[in-house]
Amino acid sequence: MNRRYRKTIIAGNWKMNKTITETKEYAAEMREILGKPKWCEAVLLVPPVNLQAGVRAFKDVKISIGTENCHYETSGAFTGECSAEMVKEAGAKYVVLGHSERRAYYNETDMDVNKKIHAALRAGLRPILCVGESLEERELGVTMEKITYQLKCALAGVTPEQVRRIVVAYEPIWAIGTGKTATSAQAAEVCGAIRTLIRKTYGARVARSMSILYGGSMNAKNAAELLSNEDIDGGLIGGASLEPKTFLEIINASNQD
Ligand code: PEP
Repeated sequence: MNRRYRKTIIAGNWKMNKTITETKEYAAEMREILGKPKWCEAVLLVPPVNLQAGVRAFKDVKISIGTENCHYETSGAFTGECSAEMVKEAGAKYVVLGHSERRAYYNETDMDVNKKIHAALRAGLRPILCVGESLEERELGVTMEKITYQLKCALAGVTPEQVRRIVVAYEPIWAIGTGKTATSAQAAEVCGAIRTLIRKTYGARVARSMSILYGGSMNAKNAAELLSNEDIDGGLIGGASLEPKTFLEIINASNQD
């Protein structure tokens, strides 16, 4: 983390978990234990159907609310989808785009992710753009090639002013939901390389102010070490965000001097 230049963000990705009732229960427990996060912005990314209830339930809890996907069109015949405008009006501040589960299970391409980034920015959302390599790609030594490709596609046509609204999450696919975390050195190396790429394309100021998160089995035990790296500005956390106490421990791990 480098709190002088950029925000630390601890974001929980609930995926397809929690009903509205469970969302309210989570908020009630957090209200009791959280207080005011000292150094980070805590965020929960919830299913779109939970957005309105979530925003209401967390109103007096210092946690921002976002969601996990949006469509790139404003409206139309896209059964089962929500537009960026819809989730924005329902109260989302952030939206996760390009998560590896959406790429794998819903065939989302890099070009789709690019269109979604533009739609989210137009709607006034802050995208959390996920990039990451498979185990096979890491073993072949093409991690940075893959991430460079994903970033270049996702950010095509995005202005430096707009890039300032984007958070990037480095999520090695092999570490998501597997209990295998990238080592602190592996995560720091890739997050640092992402910042270098942003610097080359958008300039030093934009790169310095961008929050770059690590995601992939981050938990209460490994968070402090990962977050002690200069280029890791927070975490995108799946499983370990589902219990308020565990999520709080990760939030507290960002309270380092
Ligand atoms: C994720 O889904 O973005 C994620 C990092 O999940 P987990 O923390 O469970 O690996």
